[in-house]
Amino acid sequence: MTACRSPGKLFVLSGPSGTGKSTVVARALAPGDLNLHVAVSATTRPPRPGEKEGVHYHFWNRDQFDAAVARGEFLEWAEVYGQRYGTLKSEVDPFLARGVNVLLEIDVQGAEQVARQRPDCIRIFMRTPSLEEYEKRLRQRGTEDETALQRRLHAAAQELAEADHYDYLLTNDKLDQAVADFRAIIQRLGGPRTCSTN
Ligand code: ADP
Ligand code: 5GP
Repeated sequence: MTACRSPGKLFVLSGPSGTGKSTVVARALAPGDLNLHVAVSATTRPPRPGEKEGVHYHFWNRDQFDAAVARGEFLEWAEVYGQRYGTLKSEVDPFLARGVNVLLEIDVQGAEQVARQRPDCIRIFMRTPSLEEYEKRLRQRGTEDETALQRRLHAAAQELAEADHYDYLLTNDKLDQAVADFRAIIQRLGGPRTCSTN
């Protein structure tokens, strides 16, 4: 085991549902050159078509989730749109210790909890150019029924009110530009990997 001179940086990305966070992150990672681990959260929400256990989320039932809470396994957790979501410490600290930067894609409540515990984290808020655009993108994604969709849209205004507390405000208008902006933040603040994993 090699001691690291420089631990990784912790990045937190939030923004209303439908902003394009997952899309931007997937595109930013695609070239494979970013020293960035995207933490896999646990959730009680059922998987969407195409989502895989351990890749997009750990899909746990309520008992499994609450047991992990009781064992102190979460860095943060919150109830979002009626389901529980949480960041596992095991998805964060071992990576940071090895000099790997870590990204948490989490809601504003979770981001606040992380900022309290890890004040040096870098917070990025993503939004769309207009409110109408969230609805358009959510409908286009087609993963929520009407009730769930309305719930997410109602929450958007509340979430947008938190944007001022973030270090970076990123508008996802043209996708290519948003990906470039996101990559620039990670590359500028993340720094190079400084130690080996073995
Ligand atoms: P989030 O992870 O923030 O909930 P997604 O990444 O799932 O959002 O994106 C929501 C929808 O918006 C998807 O259908 C995606 O293809 C689309 N989308 C993402 N970015 C853009 C963009 N810049 N312009 C138009 N549509 C976009
Ligand atoms: P979705 O169901 O669309 O995947 O995610 C819904 C919301 O939950 C998004 O705002 C997403 O950022 C948030 N979320 C995902 N994982 C976590 C987590 O581990 N903790 C918290 N607090 N929010 C999360």
